[in-house]
Order: sequence, then C-alpha cells, then structure tokens
Amino acid sequence: MDEVFRSGKFSHGKQVGGLESALADYTGARHVIGVNSGTDALVLLLRACGVRPGDGVLVPAYSFFATASAVVLAGGTPQFVDIDPQTYAMDPAALEAAVTSRSRFVMPVHLFHTMADMAAVTAVARRHGLTVVEDSAEAIGMRRHGVHAGLHGAGGVLSFFPSKTLGALGDAGAVLTDDPEVAATVAALRHHGRTGRTLNNFPAISTESALPGANSKMDDIQAAVLLAKLSLLEEHIARRAELADGYTTRLQDAPGIVRLPQAIAGKPDDRGGYDDRDVYYVYLIETEHRDDLVAHLDRHGIGTEVYYPLPLPHQPAFAQLGHQPGEFPRAEAAARHAVALPFHPDLGSGDLDRVCDTIRSFGAFLAGTRTTA
Ligand SMILES: *Cc1c(COP(=O)(O)O)cnc(C)c1O
Repeated sequence: MDEVFRSGKFSHGKQVGGLESALADYTGARHVIGVNSGTDALVLLLRACGVRPGDGVLVPAYSFFATASAVVLAGGTPQFVDIDPQTYAMDPAALEAAVTSRSRFVMPVHLFHTMADMAAVTAVARRHGLTVVEDSAEAIGMRRHGVHAGLHGAGGVLSFFPSKTLGALGDAGAVLTDDPEVAATVAALRHHGRTGRTLNNFPAISTESALPGANSKMDDIQAAVLLAKLSLLEEHIARRAELADGYTTRLQDAPGIVRLPQAIAGKPDDRGGYDDRDVYYVYLIETEHRDDLVAHLDRHGIGTEVYYPLPLPHQPAFAQLGHQPGEFPRAEAAARHAVALPFHPDLGSGDLDRVCDTIRSFGAFLAGTRTTA
C-alpha cells in the first residue's frame, strides 16, 4: 500500500497486473483480468462470451442476486433450475429438463464449500450445444478433476468482497479464462472498450474505443492488499477446513439441526481424487426452526448470516418471468432452513465451543417445548 501511495498511481498502476499474474499462477488460468467487483466480472464475462438479447442463460434458482442480475445486465434472460440439496448447486437432471430452444448458456454457481457437479453439467451442455460459464465468485481454491473453479468452460469469476475467502478492503473481482479472445474482450470492456498493449499492462495504448465498454477497473490499492493476502491464502484455507471439522464434530448429534455440510470432493465415485478440493468459504447448517435459532443466537451476541432468504425466481426484479411459489421446491427449502455460522480464520476453538453450546441450549429448549406442547 505504501508503494501505491508513493507512486501516486491509484489507477493504471502496476499492482493490478502483478495480482493478475499471481492469480494466474495460483489458479492455472491462462488469463486473469482484474475488475472492480465479482458482479461486474460476471457481466463482462457474459458479454465477452457473446450473450445476445433474448438468449436464455440457465442459472440455479438459489444463489446470490448477482448471478441472475448479471445475466439481465448482459442482455440475456435467466432460466432458473432447481438445486441439489447436497451441493446447493444446480441439479444436473433439473438442468436437462429446463433447457429450451432459447437456451444458449449455462452458468452453474459454486456455493459455500463445494462445487457444482461439473462433469454432469458439462455433459448436459455438450448435448444441447450450451456454452458453460461459471459463477465461481465464492470458489477460490476449489478444484474438480484437477481444474480450478471457473476454468471448466469458457470462463469464470472471482469476488474479493471483504467477507470472501480472499477479501479486499472493499470491492474487487476478477475474470478467469483460458480463451485469449474472451480475455481480450473483457480487458477492453473493463476500460471503456479500449484495447491495450498487453492484457496486464495499464494504461491502454489506444484512445479509440472498439466496444461500448464500462469503467470496471480494479483499484491499485485493492490489488496491493490482495497480492499481500494471497501469500496467506493456503494457510487460511487450511484453517477454514479445521474450523469446519470443529463445527461438524461439535454439532454432529445436536437436536433440531437437519443438515450439516457434506464433504463432496474426493468421494470414491469422483474421478479426480487428490485433484479435487472443497474450500470452506461459509459453514452452512439447516434447521426447520431457522428464524428462531437466529433470534436465539442473536440474544447471546452471536451473529449469523442467512444465505439466501429469497430464491432468485421470487425476487421482485424477476417478477415479469412469472414464477410461482412451489416451482423450485429444493431452492425454497434451502431458503427457509439454511443459516451460516460465524466463520473466519481467526476464530479459536473456544469461539466454536461458545457458538455450539448456544445452539445446543436452543436445541434443548426446542425439545422442552415439544414435550410440553
Ligand atoms: C459475492 C458473490 C457475487 C458478487 O460478487 P461481488 O464482488 O460482491 O460483486 C456473485 N455471485 C456469488 C455466488 C457471490 O457469492
């Protein structure tokens, strides 16, 4: 950060290119393009992949809002797919059933601690001639079959929102792709449609704009912060895995909890084995008494986060698509039951004890009300 201050180059400086190279090394992507947020990364990636007005883009019914809004901002139409309750990602059988003659893209999302079943999604995409792009905003460090999240199709994204596994001191994001044309188009679109000398080298040499681009550049201060934090990322990921184990051990038989996160990567039926990895971004549990549990934890000074309270098809912004309650039962169940527990590499085992004891005291309370009811 001191270097950025001394240089006075808060934009068009050297840090963004440095971060892009480091992220290319870390993920194995041929091209990484730093941008101002995960949301803009999705919009620019979809535009660069050629989404045209009216194109259907298949997305899961349960995700962060930006998954679907990015499709609309890029000019496409979201086509919603119900989820697999184990992975919280789009269900490949539901995907197959949701394909229509307008479908041109499929955008699986990797949520919380694991990835969508990319082998199955890719097989459906191949059968129907769909381009695969990934909302891998939460998935830094996750791999399947030896390939980092975001690199199983035409491209993917990363978000560096402060709460993400690799978080900036504000908003930032990136596009990952192996395709040089997609990379060049994203690099132009982030900077008023101007093409540069090299992808990683601001400023662009051209003052003419070939495309109606946006201003979606990453700040050099954020790149400097991310470059420093990237050296701690593997340590943080290992600590997150320990914390997830700690929660699972403590909550295994807790009353009132109907689902704990399932380990998905490296199952015997999975081809990759050691080249598969889950990364705990969020530790998510499900309970039928979610809102009461949230209130109980809140009374004890323990913060939680509800991911995601309203399925995407029921967001007012997509009301014109005409979806009704009951169409996406598994997405709707997750939206009713899921809650994320406090989760950060700095937590200690005493913190986990306190959270889990408080959850158990809620479970005991529930058991009590049930017997007296
Ligand atoms: C965080 C996130 C985004 C958006 O990233 P921002 O950097 O906050 O714009 C998109 N999709 C998913 C699944 C996310 O978790």
